[in-house]
Amino acid sequence: MEQRVFVFNPGPAALPLPVLERIRDEMLSFRGTGMSILEMSHRSKTFENVLNDAAMRVKRLLRLDERFRVIFLQGGASLQFAMVPMNLALEGKPVGYIDTGYWASKAMKEAQILGKEVRILASSADKNYAYIPKNLVLDENLAYLHLTSNNTIEGTQWQSFPDTQGIPLVSDMSSDIFSRVFDPSPFGLIYAGAQKNAGPSGVTIVIVREDMLGRVPKNLPTMLKYTTFVESNSLYNTPPCFAVYVVDLVLEWLEETVGGLEKMEALNREKAKILYDYIDSQDFYSCPVVPEDRSMMNVVFRLPSPELEDQFVKEAEKEGLVGLKGHRSVGGCRASLYNAVTVEAVRALVDFMKEFVRKNG
Ligand SMILES: *Cc1c(COP(=O)(O)O)cnc(C)c1O
Repeated sequence: MEQRVFVFNPGPAALPLPVLERIRDEMLSFRGTGMSILEMSHRSKTFENVLNDAAMRVKRLLRLDERFRVIFLQGGASLQFAMVPMNLALEGKPVGYIDTGYWASKAMKEAQILGKEVRILASSADKNYAYIPKNLVLDENLAYLHLTSNNTIEGTQWQSFPDTQGIPLVSDMSSDIFSRVFDPSPFGLIYAGAQKNAGPSGVTIVIVREDMLGRVPKNLPTMLKYTTFVESNSLYNTPPCFAVYVVDLVLEWLEETVGGLEKMEALNREKAKILYDYIDSQDFYSCPVVPEDRSMMNVVFRLPSPELEDQFVKEAEKEGLVGLKGHRSVGGCRASLYNAVTVEAVRALVDFMKEFVRKNG
């Protein structure tokens, strides 16, 4: 086999090696069928078993009770920015948003385009989104409160979720779903594009609490209603079969090889600590995010100049450390340490960073 590199891409992102090997091994004949899963009917029992298995694993891993439904949609997290207000807004009530950066404000903008009354309860725009707003003042009339649990681009993460006193929380968890344990009960809806932490691009995992389904307006297009996909078990039309299959394998790996979310969280904490501890121990690299709100998933850091940052990204790539460029909207560097990124990869990155300072510091 050709040498594999260490993948720090922000999304699509690293997948566990055993998952990639399993896909390869099952590619030509899927579990005794004599055909590839790519060639199979989405109405077949074989595929439906895969889809049901993936949904069951989502429920088990996140400890969702029977009130929660898991559906698989297309259109990415970006379509959810619009589907959430379309489906869950309520007549005469504002919808609440917390502005923690690039993706959070995109979500908010879709609600505004739809003409909803949008309340921005808090924003960290005043400090370049380098922190998570604290001490929220809630408006108890909100239809829901939307937040982005992990800010992929800015490198911040909610360490705990605000107590909304019964107002349903809605969260974009695209870049940290399945990375840690949390209590799902205050959430009316959770969505995540799979391509960061749960699989390949092409499928969005949506978890919706039963009581939210009563809000879905009758006059929405069929493809834009959550109820369509809940009632059809995500099989209203052809789903992204291959992507759902890979999500199932990633979640199987998470449950059976890693050993569940507590174990995954411990590993993620260990990885993030290795990198942040090194960044904080010297003064060539720096992290702009306040320590208490730093993301375990996306570690953003700066070098003394944009020229050095470019050189760093290029040389890292030559050494087999790929995907370290920061998002085009903020610049700098970013290492995405999603579930599939190993402790070994993070140690290799820190070794490279030390070597880079030795030569250029
Ligand atoms: C990547 C990302 C998105 C965009 O996802 P798409 O699937 O490309 O629409 C939205 N929100 C967050 C938090 C992300 O990290």
